[in-house]
Amino acid sequence: PSTVRLLSSSQVITSVVNVVKELTENSLDAEATSVDVKLENYGLDRIEVRDNGSGIRAEDTPVMGVRHFTSKISSHQDLESLQTYGFRGEALGSICAVAEVTVTTKTKEDDFSTQYTLDLTGNIVSQKPSHLGQGTTVSVQRLFKNLPVRRQFYSNTKKCKEELKRVQDVLTAFAIVKPELRVTLYHNKVMLWQKSKMADHRSALVATLGPNVVSHLQPFHHRHEDPEIILDGFLPKPGADFTLTSSSSADKAFIYVNDRPVQQKEITKLVRQHLGALQAEEARGRFPTFVLRVSVSAAAVDVNLTPDKTQVLLHHKEALLTAVEDLLVSLYGAQTS
Ligand code: ADP
Ligand code: MG
Repeated sequence: PSTVRLLSSSQVITSVVNVVKELTENSLDAEATSVDVKLENYGLDRIEVRDNGSGIRAEDTPVMGVRHFTSKISSHQDLESLQTYGFRGEALGSICAVAEVTVTTKTKEDDFSTQYTLDLTGNIVSQKPSHLGQGTTVSVQRLFKNLPVRRQFYSNTKKCKEELKRVQDVLTAFAIVKPELRVTLYHNKVMLWQKSKMADHRSALVATLGPNVVSHLQPFHHRHEDPEIILDGFLPKPGADFTLTSSSSADKAFIYVNDRPVQQKEITKLVRQHLGALQAEEARGRFPTFVLRVSVSAAAVDVNLTPDKTQVLLHHKEALLTAVEDLLVSLYGAQTS
């Protein structure tokens, strides 16, 4: 059974980035407005995510690390109206199987915080009073200590640095879609990146991508009927040289479905096509930066697709692509080629 646990956990928890993403999602689900991420030795020695969210209720702490425990949905019905990033109760338990985990938490009702040490199966082995304020701090030490092959991946400094960049990208994606969120990222006690609380999406974008990139982007709002799909965000201004808004990283397409960052290759491709960015620019590795938020009824989304939840299945994929196409035509005109 412990081998099975290790195998299934290692599918959910594949990397440092993945741990940071799951823990940050938990913080956002707990309505945190502040999230501090601290890594030591690229996250291998320690990953700590601290939030000022709701905290974990005393009755939930004994089971929080137990696989498939979730406080977020209670019936199949809830999946149809999902408002949270998490719903499977898999992250914390899976992390416990591949690292040493402590959780320190305090709710509004608690007089003081408590630090819980969890074992490989996610059960509490010890607890002691602590001094933190309201919210939750999860500390993950010695990630993949029992998976030498995966740990081996991190013996390459270049890969570690790329991974650190990806952690920043994940936090950036949340920072863009949650203007009110304050986020920091530290590595070995040095602050690498931060984003303060912002009043609106545009300011959040300036804070994350910089004023230069944003000056070449324009906001849009587009509504598709039946099924209702709302698209909004920021795309390059018509005629603007999109290479000014691009970076060498191909991953500057920030796409969200109901505020969940997702990969949607077809959408990215459509946008690039309409900007005439496919052939020449692809070769040069330059792509337009854009932000596209898709809002659909929760019932139209099936997030239960890949363990990392970055691929979402939409029940109205064709309608979505039509809506995006309509939007692009309205902004840039019909395609000539
Ligand atoms: P899920 O997010 O799918 O519910 P997780 O394994 O990520 O599952 O977390 C298990 C449970 O632990 C959550 O349902 C929640 O009750 C609690 N939890 C974990 N992290 C936090 C946090 N930062 N703030 C509040 N509650 C948390
Ligand atoms: Mg979760």
